[in-house]
Amino acid sequence: MKATPARRLFGTNGVRGIVNKELTPQLALQLSEAIGTFFGRTIGRSKILLGWDGRTSSPMLADLAASGLVSAGCTVYEAGLAPTPAIQYLTKAHSFNGAVMVTASHNPPEYNGIKVIDSDGIELPPEGELLIEKIYFKKEAVLRDWKGLGERLPVHDGLEAYRQAIREKVDESTISRSRPKIVIDPANGVGTLVTPYLCRELGCQVTTINSNIDGTFPGRLPEPTPANLETLSKIVRSSGADLGVAHDGDADRAIFVDGGGLVHWGDRSFALITEHYLKNHSGEEIVTPVSSSSVIEDVASKYGGKVVWTPVGSINVSRTMAKIGAKLGGEENGGIFYAPHIPVRDGAMATALILEIMASSREKLSTLMGRLPRYFNVKDRVPCPERLKSKVLKQLREEVKGIKVETIDGVKVWHEDRGWILVRPSGTEPIYRLFAEAMSTEKAQDLVSRYKKILSNIIRKSGRRS
Ligand code: MG
Repeated sequence: MKATPARRLFGTNGVRGIVNKELTPQLALQLSEAIGTFFGRTIGRSKILLGWDGRTSSPMLADLAASGLVSAGCTVYEAGLAPTPAIQYLTKAHSFNGAVMVTASHNPPEYNGIKVIDSDGIELPPEGELLIEKIYFKKEAVLRDWKGLGERLPVHDGLEAYRQAIREKVDESTISRSRPKIVIDPANGVGTLVTPYLCRELGCQVTTINSNIDGTFPGRLPEPTPANLETLSKIVRSSGADLGVAHDGDADRAIFVDGGGLVHWGDRSFALITEHYLKNHSGEEIVTPVSSSSVIEDVASKYGGKVVWTPVGSINVSRTMAKIGAKLGGEENGGIFYAPHIPVRDGAMATALILEIMASSREKLSTLMGRLPRYFNVKDRVPCPERLKSKVLKQLREEVKGIKVETIDGVKVWHEDRGWILVRPSGTEPIYRLFAEAMSTEKAQDLVSRYKKILSNIIRKSGRRS
């Protein structure tokens, strides 16, 4: 893979930071002027869709983004509060030239971010982000005179169109006949504007918790980890519901809870969706980052599918899918990418697919999950100075020569009994992240311990030599 020069503002998910500390009003405005200039350069007067999540800082930042874009001559169509995937869907479906989404996804309430979407609905590729950074740092934004300013226009019925698009991708009558009872926890985020309505339209009996939009996240933190989903889990169990669904703050992820209150991690729901999809589309390619569980490969090979591995990060899954024309992708964190709708992660689309699987199989989620092969994961980290990172990775590749490895992102090494370990340098901290999977926790822990030793040795030796 060709190396792209490092970006200074954009991270893996747009420009993120603590509001008024790292992400200041000045940065938001000038960045938006640069974004507007970027789109204007290639397109002339561009049509940009703007959406934002429910954070306390989102209206302030969205206003600044709108002003920056308008000053650079863009016509800004304001969709308002909306899930990120709704903005991505509408960008493509309604032929906008691009979009700006103000969101910090699953981060704590003090954060916010600005994400730039390309005309195909997928996050802008790194080359585009670099061009925007260049305009920003070199102060090359082109601000129009009074005759050339853009306008701010409202968008009507965007979320209805988005819900309708999801409904068309699933078997509504089968879901509706089974009348599933579902509890939805959107974490006081923008998922509340879509998923409860969508599920009612699909014939579900819907209960919601944490469903008023509140940027202080009073119900739970916006990351849908099992520790944050205890209330959802209790309510699903005590109310006799068939399914619980939890979103992150901008509802591009969905994590599912079975009727017994058990939280199932995202690679398992992705495996169920893979199975369901490949049953009808045998031999197709399934796209997922190297960090995903072997359960995906197990299911794919059972139904004649092929797994295509990507570097970690949702944009890599989306861009790979678009490039090879794959229809399904997924991430272990609860991101499902369904290209017949849009190849970006989408929490509402994932929910509709899980409802379709339960209704068409007439099985409980716990039964469906119980049939999947079971793996166990252990995570750890090893400190490593930034200057040694690439040298250490090279050395590690040497050490594992002869063993089956995947080097698309860090080093993933396969071991006996379907065990594997992924060693990746962190992009933001002076550490290496270790992530192991095996048939038992002990075996996964053993892999982590072995590689911690190997890495520490390499780091010590490289430090001495440099
Ligand atoms: Mg998110």
